[in-house]
Amino acid sequence: MVNNEELYFCRVCGFRYYNLPWGENNDNPSREICPCCGVEFGYEDSNLLGIQHYRKKWLETGTKWFEPRERPDDWSLEKQLDQIPEQYKYENL
Ligand SMILES: [Zn+2]
Repeated sequence: MVNNEELYFCRVCGFRYYNLPWGENNDNPSREICPCCGVEFGYEDSNLLGIQHYRKKWLETGTKWFEPRERPDDWSLEKQLDQIPEQYKYENL
């Protein structure tokens, strides 16, 4: 079961997005780009394997921000990864 707050978080990196990345029913992707990991909602994050691959690549290449201006000064990777909705959180492939 998904609660509403969870719907705001990027499935890949856990960033809390301004809109609903996948819409109210979690099944209507906006095709917008996550300012943090750069995933396109509805493309690389459309299944668990894609999510895991994209996250792995993002972590391995130094967790660069797609929109560096959006990065908070006190940004914490660990805290953000913690926010990934449970069903997308698997760490290993
Ligand atoms: Zn993201």
